[in-house]
Amino acid sequence: MNATNADPQEIQKFSELAHRWWDPGSEFRPLHEINPLRLEWINARAPLAGKKVVDIGCGGGILAESMAVKGAVVTGIDLSDKALKVADLHSMESGVQVRYEKIAAEDLAAREPGQYDVVTCMEMLEHVPDPASIVRAAATLAKPGGKVFFSTLNRNPKAYLLAIVGAEYLLRMLPKGTHDYAKFITPAELAHYTREAGLEIDAFKGMSYNPLTRIYSLNQDTDVNYLVACTKAA
Ligand code: SAH
Repeated sequence: MNATNADPQEIQKFSELAHRWWDPGSEFRPLHEINPLRLEWINARAPLAGKKVVDIGCGGGILAESMAVKGAVVTGIDLSDKALKVADLHSMESGVQVRYEKIAAEDLAAREPGQYDVVTCMEMLEHVPDPASIVRAAATLAKPGGKVFFSTLNRNPKAYLLAIVGAEYLLRMLPKGTHDYAKFITPAELAHYTREAGLEIDAFKGMSYNPLTRIYSLNQDTDVNYLVACTKAA
């Protein structure tokens, strides 16, 4: 088990909240709200029906289940036992099938290289010690020509202000300490990791929150939260 590229405190943090994962009014509300947006963006770039997909850092399975509803055959992996248990229970209740497994991305990549049409890894890279290693694992998991998607938080004063001061302290949408500014990743850094991993970037997309309307939207503003779509060389 590749336990080296995981921060036990991070896993613990998500485990403690895991029982509320599917409560749309909980700490996980932002994930519920952004999910339709990112799902449609992914599905437009990589039509999910019939595809073999792995979701890295799946947590309680919000994205994983929604991709399965689109007709994908989905594997969700995470290192939080509790999150995976919640994910499994929810899948049983909803009847939406997802295969969940507790395994590090690097270990799954060693076991199942080149087997996935689509790889997703959302809101997770900013919680791991070595994000480049996760990006390499994601690339290894993808088939040649496969699509790989990431999302994370940019690192700059505006991101600090909105993602930490705004979301954790002013609006209290997230528990204090949810995010560590030093671990945020600029698009240039992520682009470097993906290139080194043999991925070609197709597109960046910004994701922002309007605190007045309380509405999330996808746009060209990658200053705070952003997604990236890549293709593995054929
Ligand atoms: N991707 C999901 C959940 C994001 S929350 C979504 O966007 O809806 C971040 C998740 O990453 C948590 O479930 C946490 O347990 C997981 N995580 C953190 N570090 C990890 C690691 N090193 N390996 C696998 N999962 C990790």
